[in-house]
Amino acid sequence: MVQTDNRSPAFDNLKLPEDGEIIRQEGGTLRVPANPVIPFIRGDGVGPDIWNAAVHVFEAAVQKAYSGKRDCVWFELYAGERAQKLYGELLPRDTVEAIRYCRVAIKGPLTTPVSGGYRSLNVALRQQLDLYACVRPVRHIPGVPSPVLHPERLNVVVFRENTEDVYAGLEWESGSQEARELVSFLSAKLGAKVREGSAVGLKPVSENASKRLVRKAIQYAIDHRRKSVTLIHKGNIMKFTEGAFRDWGYEVAADEFSDSTVAERELSSAQGSGAAAGKIVIKDRIADSMFQQVLLRPEEYDVLATTNLNGDYISDACAAQVGGLGLAPGANIGDGMAVFEATHGTAPKYAGQDKVNPSSLILSGALMFDYMGWKEVARVIEDALSETIADKTVTYDLHRQMSGATLLKCSEFGLAVVDNMA
Ligand code: NAP
Repeated sequence: MVQTDNRSPAFDNLKLPEDGEIIRQEGGTLRVPANPVIPFIRGDGVGPDIWNAAVHVFEAAVQKAYSGKRDCVWFELYAGERAQKLYGELLPRDTVEAIRYCRVAIKGPLTTPVSGGYRSLNVALRQQLDLYACVRPVRHIPGVPSPVLHPERLNVVVFRENTEDVYAGLEWESGSQEARELVSFLSAKLGAKVREGSAVGLKPVSENASKRLVRKAIQYAIDHRRKSVTLIHKGNIMKFTEGAFRDWGYEVAADEFSDSTVAERELSSAQGSGAAAGKIVIKDRIADSMFQQVLLRPEEYDVLATTNLNGDYISDACAAQVGGLGLAPGANIGDGMAVFEATHGTAPKYAGQDKVNPSSLILSGALMFDYMGWKEVARVIEDALSETIADKTVTYDLHRQMSGATLLKCSEFGLAVVDNMA
């Protein structure tokens, strides 16, 4: 677990805003003051465009919800290309420490560097802050064009484990000395035959990481009155990694949430789902069948908890199903700390054109306010954004798929959302 305390860190080049207070964690509960300091990173490419549109929406929504009694104090941090220019490095220590200290932050997309020692800045940030749950709510916004007939039937929240599985970075190139040594070790010590010259990778899945992810998913389901948590796995083939994820998930539910959960297998078919009696049903599904399930029986699914690679696939597939890949919000959450982010990339060809859709960042902000307990702000943002899309006042990406729509710039879309808060 990331250690945090309430002492102010010593920054190299940053100064905390003096007019705000820091969000604290007391006894496992987030204490959000009326004027919290919220770090933000504009990001690269279209990041500044979408941030400029989104921040007006955030400020107007807070004003609308609390009439001046609460307010965010924004604290700019740097990562990616801007940090390279200002600090001479892509992910400065100041940035990581400021997020650790302030606990809740929001960011735009970052360019994946071709060099500079990082596979991905986003992955580095998640690892350094131990933000172990990637959370993606997926629901249809009325009016958004979708490839399916009934996109409104899908309303899920994906909890994807963020720190291990095949994303652990444990892989070696075909023909490398490491790969050859690993292959010969496997053969000599474990009797496991791997074809000569193979590239090899490892898939670590631990009890601790699996359980804390499922714990977070179940707690979310309880807090948000969701009906079920489905453990998605490929345990029929990978019994000791994916199968163990499923088993550890059921264990967490039985050991820690027995009052509020019931395993689907314990519900007799005669009693049907009514036997759940208000409890959250814990189910499990094999990953490949889950891709059919979300298309064929979407209303049977609610919160989804899964390992890293499955989660990567299923969250994009679900987002595409509701037509919302460019609109999907995202969060990376650890213990008492979270970074909210647009889920799309930097779209460099549109950078600085005030053109792209800022909805992903705007909805990530709604998720952030919900996490902070400012639920009224989250509702104001979601309602106003839905209304703007229902009005068919949209950016180019939706405009090209809708008939009779009005084309707006990125900044104009943000202003239209603000207008719809009235
Ligand atoms: P991308 O930046 O997401 O852009 C791919 C396409 O998606 C764009 O050309 C555009 O489609 C559409 N798109 C993306 N954002 C949009 C928005 N806000 N509104 C409307 N349309 C949008 O993916 P990429 O080109 O593969 O990646 C570019 C860079 O971003 C890479 O360096 C990558 O590593 C990085 N990246 C960062 C993050 C992150 O920081 N979280 C995530 C993914 C990728 P059309 O061309 O059809 O208009």
